[in-house]
Amino acid sequence: MINCDLGMSKPFDIEIGRLTGPANYSEVRGVVTGQRGTFFLETFGCQMNDHDSEKVAGLLLSRGYQQVETPEAASMILYNTCSIREKAAQKVFSRLGEYREKQSAGKVIGVLGCVAQQEGEDIFRRAPWVSLVCGSASYSKLPEMLARLEAGNSRVTGLDTDTDETFETPVTRRDNPWRAYLTIIEGCDKACSYCVVPFTRGPERSRASDSILREVQQLAERGYSEVQLLGQTVNSYADPTTRKMRFSELLLAVADVQGIRRVRFTTSHPSDFTRDIVEAIEREPKVCDHVHLPVQSGSAKVLRAMQRTYSREEYLEKIAMIREAKRPIGITTDIIVGFPGETEADFEETLSLLVEVQYDSMFSFKYSPRPNTPSLSMSDSISEEEKGRRLAILQDKQREIQAAKHAGLLGEGFEVLVSGKSRRENQWTGYTTSHRMINFTSQERELLGTYVQVQVTGATPNGLVGEHAV
Ligand code: SAM
Ligand code: SF4
Repeated sequence: MINCDLGMSKPFDIEIGRLTGPANYSEVRGVVTGQRGTFFLETFGCQMNDHDSEKVAGLLLSRGYQQVETPEAASMILYNTCSIREKAAQKVFSRLGEYREKQSAGKVIGVLGCVAQQEGEDIFRRAPWVSLVCGSASYSKLPEMLARLEAGNSRVTGLDTDTDETFETPVTRRDNPWRAYLTIIEGCDKACSYCVVPFTRGPERSRASDSILREVQQLAERGYSEVQLLGQTVNSYADPTTRKMRFSELLLAVADVQGIRRVRFTTSHPSDFTRDIVEAIEREPKVCDHVHLPVQSGSAKVLRAMQRTYSREEYLEKIAMIREAKRPIGITTDIIVGFPGETEADFEETLSLLVEVQYDSMFSFKYSPRPNTPSLSMSDSISEEEKGRRLAILQDKQREIQAAKHAGLLGEGFEVLVSGKSRRENQWTGYTTSHRMINFTSQERELLGTYVQVQVTGATPNGLVGEHAV
């Protein structure tokens, strides 16, 4: 699911021969790795940012750069940023401060992503040692920008948002060898009053269905078995080709690709969540039984002020439609507390919605006023302390719900995709199709990337524990 917890760049361990992209990697095989220098790429933010970084890394590799694991070893340091909440944006300048010394050693420093889009050329004023500023809506222009840097330009920017193009790279350098992210829709045309995304990622643009399916085919051929379709409002997908594939048809078409065992999608917008998506999940077991459906608030008044385009009742109707599915579907959500004007009674409504829906998990945030957003002009009347209090109450409630749900799963068996191995012997981690994490024991020597059956033997509010059922 798209979550906005800050994350650090991940280790990379994918062989060059497994890189994938809309074009065939062989087209760029003549390139000598490292001939243009080395890069270090650090990423903050959501899965869309993670995946953008995978594409940026692929692009750089295809141009002859080599990826390295430390800023010290790099000739170019790139920082892919997040500005969804103020804290995340503040981190950027403190990190750039740390990079300052490194620039004196002759390194190129570049800021990518949402903060780049939001702050624009002002970044050069605040951090004059930066030489590249590129917003996420301009990534398709990165090759041109890199060429200008290579030609000796000391300051290069890419800040347009008025592009129809989605960011398709000749190759993508994925961090996870089994689960592949694939952006199918960029930007956002919704106008939630608190959100910077429409400003930082530009208008909604959908990728052609044939190009998506070609890449899925390649992924399957390279051994990826799980595909996660990404978009800020993934289910608003509008195929730009004459085929005019609906989102639900695309889910089924991706599932139909030989070798694909799981298809995930995130994030779904409640207003565009239609019955045919539930039918696709019912019909095709490879389409994962998990829907991330952010509600943001349980109060009709707050939802209106947030410009969320649905009421509490309409949202609950969508939940009822999902709950009526022929197989159980896990539901997760995002919630903001302390939005301007949120009263204690509004907050109580959010708590009652939590109890009514019984979410499988939740990401929750304190409202953070952001530049360019309509809610910035509403008085941010709720103190940080009060926001913190409401957040803690909300999280306690959700913990209770999860604890009860997880306890009800004791003794059940699930198929998991094994995605982690603990340092402790015989301990593994995997995800069920409904995206529940299970830590389990197995005597097997190598399980990573395989699908195994696990029986649940213990439960905590945050997860499940189990044993490999052989
Ligand atoms: N497109 C998704 C949707 O419609 O729900 C969400 C995208 S956003 C990257 C992820 C989450 O960040 C949102 O669902 C919201 O809960 C949270 N968020 C966005 N703007 C925020 C703000 N100004 N303050 C606090 N949380 C915010
Ligand atoms: Fe932001 Fe709303 Fe678009 Fe989600 S739907 S990205 S919250 S504007």
